[in-house]
Amino acid sequence: MNAPDTPFPFDAAIAAAADRIEPDVVAWRRDLHRNPELGNREVRTSRIVADHLRSLGFDAVREKVAHTGVVGVLKGGKPGPVVALRADMDGLPVVEETDLPFKSTVRTEWNGQACGVMHACGHDAHTSILMGVASVLAGMRDRIPGTVKFIFQPAEETPPIDEEGGAKMMVAEGCLENPGVGAIFGLHVVSTYPTGMIGYRSGPFMASADDFRIFVRGVQTHAAYPWLGVDPIVVGSQIVMGLQTIVSRKMDITHEPSIVTVGVFRGGVRHNIVPDEVKLEGTIRAFDEEHRSQLHEHVERISQMIAEAGGARANVHIHRWYDVTVNDPALTDWSVPTLARIGGEANVRVIDKQCGAEDFSFYQKQVPGFFYYIGCTAPEHNAAKAAPNHSPRFHVDEDCLKLGVKTLCALALDWLGANATA
Ligand SMILES: [Zn+2]
Ligand SMILES: [Zn+2]
Repeated sequence: MNAPDTPFPFDAAIAAAADRIEPDVVAWRRDLHRNPELGNREVRTSRIVADHLRSLGFDAVREKVAHTGVVGVLKGGKPGPVVALRADMDGLPVVEETDLPFKSTVRTEWNGQACGVMHACGHDAHTSILMGVASVLAGMRDRIPGTVKFIFQPAEETPPIDEEGGAKMMVAEGCLENPGVGAIFGLHVVSTYPTGMIGYRSGPFMASADDFRIFVRGVQTHAAYPWLGVDPIVVGSQIVMGLQTIVSRKMDITHEPSIVTVGVFRGGVRHNIVPDEVKLEGTIRAFDEEHRSQLHEHVERISQMIAEAGGARANVHIHRWYDVTVNDPALTDWSVPTLARIGGEANVRVIDKQCGAEDFSFYQKQVPGFFYYIGCTAPEHNAAKAAPNHSPRFHVDEDCLKLGVKTLCALALDWLGANATA
């Protein structure tokens, strides 16, 4: 045991408990990996989580938050503030292509289509890490100066069409209140970094993500007599090229990067028929709210004006998904020494902005939050060439799990200690 007056009285206890719990964390992760569930369908997963928290003697375990979310409250033996830790629980509609003995063979349905299910983003690792953190902190609760709130959320990868879900709904259903949270921490396993590495960035870290659908309405005709109609395929093609001038010509790229990508171009049934309509779908990414609204305006105006120039009509629908994930600068500066102490200074690095998105951003809009990456590719493999998150061959080196447990424990306890009222 550490002497009570050492600056970090919990480190030795965290390390010992993390060693002890590691086999359990690995076992939980393998079980979750074999039994993945899609967004808003995490029924089995959330039952396992809730049973675990109850078995540890948590003060409160609230279930069915935002459909299948679980919020657990662990009160320490000493008075103090409230810190939250968050894990996401959902898998992806991906058919797993690994050869792991515990690979998923689950098949189900997503938005009306048959699909496989795989923990292809590592949320099985996040859930089992946070279950491990719950075990470690419950074992030392008498010494904890404050309260730790555990947020296990569904549907980070978005809920099914026509359903609400994820972090936004967790916030709306009060996961940051009663008791009110002073700061929140979360992590993501990332295969393009080696195990042991911790990556972070202050301020805008991950992009906002919005999707758009554009219906370009022309006038159907025989393909050999195009002058008798309005060809939406040609107009749609011009729109694709027009959208590519937004980032290159309209945005201040010295301030923040942004992305407009068309991922779907669908129309026509036969080589000799000009169709009535084509549909374009795509995504918009930004790192700043003002840029985000400018991008939306440009997508709408360019699509509509190009369509009009060609005698067609464009109906543009933009859906706002995730806000920019912004790491609170003061909390980030405060967190880095903890990460360096636990993970080793040489392993903690500032990384580039990420054009992927995270709904952790919705918690950060309410309270200061810090989100970081931990590498999950074994050092003997080349992380730069590893199958990325969301790949059917995505692989988590389980040696990363303990670092996840230790860093979250240390961040929570350091924060409570630093913010405890005298
Ligand atoms: Zn993902
Ligand atoms: Zn993810």
